[in-house]
Amino acid sequence: MNVTIWNEFRHEKQNELVRSIYPDGIHSAIAQGLRDLDSGLDVRTATLDEAEHGLSEAVVESTDVLFWWGHAHHEAVSEPVVERVHNAVLAGMGLVVLHSGHFSRIFRRLMGTACSLRWREAGERERLWVVNPGHPIARGIGPFIELPNTEMYGEPFIVPTPEEEVFISWFEGGEVFRSGCCWRRGNGKVFYFRPGHETYPIYHNRQVLQVLANAAHWAAPHGERVSGIHKAQNVPAEQAREKIVRKGGSVHQPDGSLGGAMQ
Ligand code: ZN
Repeated sequence: MNVTIWNEFRHEKQNELVRSIYPDGIHSAIAQGLRDLDSGLDVRTATLDEAEHGLSEAVVESTDVLFWWGHAHHEAVSEPVVERVHNAVLAGMGLVVLHSGHFSRIFRRLMGTACSLRWREAGERERLWVVNPGHPIARGIGPFIELPNTEMYGEPFIVPTPEEEVFISWFEGGEVFRSGCCWRRGNGKVFYFRPGHETYPIYHNRQVLQVLANAAHWAAPHGERVSGIHKAQNVPAEQAREKIVRKGGSVHQPDGSLGGAMQ
């Protein structure tokens, strides 16, 4: 299974605290963690400042599951790449959106809602309760994950009602949050996982990495990936399965395009 970890990879270069936790970038830490946990995953990375953000047509086409970590530069992701990733999800590619990726262009486009939430950066304790213990993403996790220091995300989380929920977080300050949510979009699966603020060593936590490995398996396409499924397909009368004769007018040109006078 081909997994691509995408990261903005700017905070690690600009902020000394973040760099001390992730000297090679968050993407490298997640990639190494996944490789160590699961030899069945072929993991590569891509970052914002590479050509096409590291997400060329060839990379996206050959990716089974894409992980997305962004925070401060969501709007720097170009429209062609957002469109390419969006179409790939509709065709069957899995997408795992991490933490502040809730505001990424690709997640907002797939959800169609504001994707906003409440937040507080106070290093408080978080307990992620497994609310769906039979779910494949919760495999091997036990009843909960406890993180000593996290950024708080609180409800309301403005997303479409998840089709499945795996985790609900409780925070020391009293808030709760739907921390592990599943949706299907077209042929693709989307998982949102909350933990991951870059000033805490979240992606060095073994349980967190286990969730990410489980999520890769859950989100991977199990059926055929249907490229081009987002396009409307003209079936000319001559190519109809049974013989038919064209009747009535049309707003379309013989090649299927719109325009010109109505016939
Ligand atoms: Zn954060």
